Amino acid sequence: MKDQLIIFDTTLRDGEQSPGASMTQEEKLRIARQLERMRVDVIEAGFPAASNGDFESVRAIAETIKESTVCALARANENDIRRSGEAIRPAARGRIHTFIATSPIHMEKKLRMTPDQVVEQAVKAIGWAKEYTDDIEFSAEDAGRSEIDFLVRIFTAVIEAGAKTINVPDTVGYNVPTQYANTLRTLIERVPNSDKVIWSVHCHNDLGLAVANSLAAVLAGARQVECTINGLGERAGNAALEEIVMAVRTRQDVFPCDTLIDTTQIVPASKLVSGVTGFPVQPNKAIVGANAFSHESGIHQDGVLKHRETYEIMRAEDVGWGANKLVLGKHSGRNAFRSRLQEIGIVVASEDQLNHAFARFKELADKKHEIFDEDLNALMSDEGVTPEHEHFRLLASRFHSETGETPQAELTIAVGGKETRTSAQGSGPVDAAFKAIEAVAKSGTELLLYSVNAITTGTDAQGEVTVRLSQDGKIVNGQGADTDIIVASAKAYLNALNKLHGKLEKLNPQL
Ligand SMILES: [Zn+2]
Repeated sequence: MKDQLIIFDTTLRDGEQSPGASMTQEEKLRIARQLERMRVDVIEAGFPAASNGDFESVRAIAETIKESTVCALARANENDIRRSGEAIRPAARGRIHTFIATSPIHMEKKLRMTPDQVVEQAVKAIGWAKEYTDDIEFSAEDAGRSEIDFLVRIFTAVIEAGAKTINVPDTVGYNVPTQYANTLRTLIERVPNSDKVIWSVHCHNDLGLAVANSLAAVLAGARQVECTINGLGERAGNAALEEIVMAVRTRQDVFPCDTLIDTTQIVPASKLVSGVTGFPVQPNKAIVGANAFSHESGIHQDGVLKHRETYEIMRAEDVGWGANKLVLGKHSGRNAFRSRLQEIGIVVASEDQLNHAFARFKELADKKHEIFDEDLNALMSDEGVTPEHEHFRLLASRFHSETGETPQAELTIAVGGKETRTSAQGSGPVDAAFKAIEAVAKSGTELLLYSVNAITTGTDAQGEVTVRLSQDGKIVNGQGADTDIIVASAKAYLNALNKLHGKLEKLNPQL
């Protein structure tokens, strides 16, 4: 019997800290349900001390998720830990994950604490957490640049105090595989009772080594990997869940452990996270990229046709490709619509919302004959913005673009419920639409990114537009989907403005 490798997903916490990747509570719940369906062991749902919104999201996930452990992150102080404890209270299985910095540079410059004070604070933190749960994880922030003797000391103390999982994060993505594996091996050898806890790794991808470092640590004895869907995360991101899981599954001859993940849920999870955050997946991305299983080269194709294993080490269907079968069409009824939403994890709050969503589904089905799961996700993301957060809303549009003429956009927008007409010219119809919106909104934002992706295949596919805006250092992503990409662009711009309009300040822990 092989050891179990625990998969700890932090898409909703670390992943959400990518600039512009913030998600609504409804979006987080949808992702959490997909993670549960994929049989992720631990879902890090958020950082409850960051804001009331974060607290409520973690609590809602704790109320909803039954199979996976729901984890809340807390700095090693009493307030953070009590907020986390309250947030996970409804969970079937709840974990508190507390952390403190242990590298000399962080202790001295950031915490302004002596090493003795840091150990004392960590032990106190475990004590507060124990009032809420026995499932306590401790992280030594910036462990990758900490002194090994100090790590041995603090880990010994927190295990003695009751921590059950010990995480050794490479917070700044500085480590390389053999050296990082050595760190893990040394800690496991030197820390007393190291066999009574689970050793965990959390690697950042600044040097492109997050997955390699995580896997090297697993070979050295780590039995939990912290990772995110599509490798989402701060800066260059985290270790990609899909790569960790498939490397371990495919190379069972090398790894002494395996995960419980249902790998056929990987591609649906990837598409969901990409759709919600507006971060497209590069085509050559391992496992979940559009080209990951396509064989363009004639020589390869011939080999694959003769015998699949000549060039394929995994099967596309094992990771969930091809599962997005035609689900609904123009003649699908309300019940079929509702039950498909349920199957992909979307819960409609009320009959009113269902009726409204169904009407929009019918409109879409008139323009596009085949409706896939990705279309439903995009449709419901648009629905997800609650009316109180929808300060700007597109009511009607008209675009003009002709050879030799200046492109023109005329829009009717509801601003705080008041109908407003606006128009502008631009270098193209998208530029004209954005200028027309700005003429009314006067947000003074800077456009950092604009991208269009086809949600599914075919020329009648919906275009999904992502717009990233920056205003006084705040960065948000807006999304919009429509079969007309100019309309999708206007929706995405307004969606981003709505997020800026209702946005609260929040705190991002570095871990
Ligand atoms: Zn991190």
